[in-house]
Amino acid sequence: MGKTADTPMMVQYHEIKKQYPDAFVFYRLGDFYELFEDDAILGAKLLELTLTARNKNAENPVPMAGIPHHAAQNYIDILVDQGYKVAIVEQMEDPAVAQGMVKRDVVQLITPGTKMLGGAGNDKQNNYLAAILPDDKRFSLSYIDLSTGELKVTTIKRFSDVIDELRSLEVKEVVLLKNDEQTITLQLANQLGEEGLVVSTQESAEANATVSFLTQGLANASEASVTALLLNYLFDTQRRNLEHIVPAESYERLAYLKFNQDTRTNLDLVENARTHKKSGSLLGLIDETKTAMGGRLLKQWLLKPLRDVDDINHRLDVVAAFQSAFFVRGALQDHLKSVYDLERLAARAAMGTMNPRELVQLKRSLSAIPGMKSVLAEGDRILSAAGGELDAMADLAGLIDEAIVDDPPVSVREGDLINTGFDQKIDEYRRVLTENQQWLAQLETDERAATGINTLKVKYNKNFGFFIEVSRANVAKLPEGRYERRQTLTNAERFVTPELKEHESLINEAQLKRTEREYELFVTVRERVKANINRLQTLARHVARLDVLASLADVADSHRFVRPTFTNNNVIDIKQGRHPVVESLLATGEFVANDVFLDQDTSMQLITGPNMAGKSTYMRELALIVMLAQMGSFVPADSAILPVFDQIFTRIGANDDMAMGQSTFMVEMAEANLALQEATAHSLILFDELGRGTATYDGMALAQAIIEYLDAHVHAKTLFSTHYHELTALANQHESIDNVHVGAVEDETGNLHFLHQIQAGPADKSYGIHVAALAGLPETLIANATNILADLEQEGKTKQAIEEPTSQQVALFNVDAVDQNTEKLLAKLDQITIATVTPLDALNLLADLKKLR
Ligand code: ADP
Repeated sequence: MGKTADTPMMVQYHEIKKQYPDAFVFYRLGDFYELFEDDAILGAKLLELTLTARNKNAENPVPMAGIPHHAAQNYIDILVDQGYKVAIVEQMEDPAVAQGMVKRDVVQLITPGTKMLGGAGNDKQNNYLAAILPDDKRFSLSYIDLSTGELKVTTIKRFSDVIDELRSLEVKEVVLLKNDEQTITLQLANQLGEEGLVVSTQESAEANATVSFLTQGLANASEASVTALLLNYLFDTQRRNLEHIVPAESYERLAYLKFNQDTRTNLDLVENARTHKKSGSLLGLIDETKTAMGGRLLKQWLLKPLRDVDDINHRLDVVAAFQSAFFVRGALQDHLKSVYDLERLAARAAMGTMNPRELVQLKRSLSAIPGMKSVLAEGDRILSAAGGELDAMADLAGLIDEAIVDDPPVSVREGDLINTGFDQKIDEYRRVLTENQQWLAQLETDERAATGINTLKVKYNKNFGFFIEVSRANVAKLPEGRYERRQTLTNAERFVTPELKEHESLINEAQLKRTEREYELFVTVRERVKANINRLQTLARHVARLDVLASLADVADSHRFVRPTFTNNNVIDIKQGRHPVVESLLATGEFVANDVFLDQDTSMQLITGPNMAGKSTYMRELALIVMLAQMGSFVPADSAILPVFDQIFTRIGANDDMAMGQSTFMVEMAEANLALQEATAHSLILFDELGRGTATYDGMALAQAIIEYLDAHVHAKTLFSTHYHELTALANQHESIDNVHVGAVEDETGNLHFLHQIQAGPADKSYGIHVAALAGLPETLIANATNILADLEQEGKTKQAIEEPTSQQVALFNVDAVDQNTEKLLAKLDQITIATVTPLDALNLLADLKKLR
């Protein structure tokens, strides 16, 4: 600050700001939260507020921007969504009675990881806050969703896997130990690039008395520490009761099918990679859940498919039971529709932020449970057992029902919350209120009769309360004594009488006592909810699970999925498998189903066929079927026999990572390397046109070497699609490699039709020339290319072709005899980078090429 001394208020502000240098400080001043200094300048810009100044005329005016307190939540959300933190500073004493400066303190720090999403609305999104603690070459990772209380912890060997777990959980904020801040922040920045993360620090990873009961169940000391680190931060920033947090649960990443972010993206697992929306993703397709809890759980299951066959089969058993009990399922789902977000309601009860409407939502939710139990009882043994686990919490539902009115206001301080008949005192206050209000209502008539003044009125305003208004001309008619003058207007005078005052004070008193008593009882009811949090959370878990399993049965029905079977003889045998998302985008019957068959001794399929024939759809389809099966879902096929996989690796499509400054080819090789290093005989690998990111010979040589390496050392089940026709000869040399191709036919006019049908053996040709003809290249050129190809095929020992490779597409451009137009055309073709061209650009390019003819 400048030369002038701070006012006491700014001294107080600076003391608080010093403790929260990286947060916007929302400083409560009467009905506003004020931002000062740099916070005000940046805040005014981000929030579109008017920037003013305190002490405008002083030497050093202080920049200031104000936010009405009742609208604060919107502004907080905007800042937090952009990765900022907000410290809420409240007045800790009533300014009216405070001596000197009003005491103020931070009551809550709101950060991206602690933001409470939604209320009890339909929010299928988790919001996780994570903590990382390095320990002896390993990392402990804990995470929590504050809005549900779910707390998990695990140990991870490699930092890249830590990153991957953070990405999968969509974590926006991590807590680090102050000591680790520098090193880990750097590593995070290296690996996450611009995506970034909000980093927060905490001094201690020691479990204190408040948090120890949440960590004491953890056997691993590092896991206990990282959980304590996370919780210390939470308790420090939230400064409120967090009894809804469930004791930490340690999990093994090995228990789940593992795949990384690239794979999630490649497969459009939870969002469509192009639109970043849930629709157009597998999750979008299979989400028929009716509750927010179910929606969140479904996503968790999809991101963490299981590896234990018994666990998988337990889920499948319930899906099967639901599938055959159509009516039970439908009735159950009807009940589920009236269940609100129990997890978040429980959290709000614990934190004391639950409002009366949410109490009623809780009651409505609980009153759906008996119905659910009785419909489940009509199902088979499995379903009735599941119903038996539901606790309808009739005591709590009954209490809320008796106590709280059906349509209460949101506000807890203004009364009208508690039912008549629930509390004698409230009923008495209400009686007094009604009586006196009736007296008042009658007053105008009575006074007119008593005074003979027909224009006399009884009115009310905020400053004077109730009064009697008489026009100036009539004042003389009022009898002496009883009427006490309160106010004189131009044309009228206002009076009160002792009785009026008395009745009015009775009303005020009854009103005040009633609202106080209502609040008191409301809090009692809310405390009862809090006392039942464990039961409520258990119920929420059971409901969520049933919701997910019923949803899976729904999807199985509507999309014709079947129950997969698992064996341990390493066979993939899928009959008429389908890619559910691609299928859903096509008209009925348009999608061509395909078998996938890799017997015990076959580890690899080499897939050939023209562009756009359906190679990568076939590959993705297998991965999706595996994931669905292991999450406990039925799968899109007529039948499916599968092994249980441990990991899935994918290298599909042009997945440039330009932002990171790596070339496409480098990324491609890095992804391939990951699979080569990490895959086991129980893994699934999908390589789509590996090697095409470099020169033809390089690419083919690498592709062949990778295939041979996989064959010799890895034995993972692999689908390998390729343009290099020559590679298909490898199947002759390696027992474990099969050739398949996607069929295409030429009609009598030489036009190409894709069948999207996977067939045994290599493609007979790669149709590059057909595709070129379709693109409208000059006929002379096409004819020439066809001749060259024929010559090459004459020469053609495939093995030689690998040593001295010549793919048809290369041959196409080695033509000598070309006319001028053709040269232009070829120049144009040369400029095209196939890996990065968008479908729309491709169409435009084709149009340009046609013009050159
Ligand atoms: P490739 O990998 O061989 O270039 P894709 O798998 O990307 O081909 O498929 C190209 C397009 O063909 C897809 O977008 C889809 O519209 C269609 N397609 C692929 N497979 C099928 C199928 N089995 N049935 C119907 N259409 C399909």
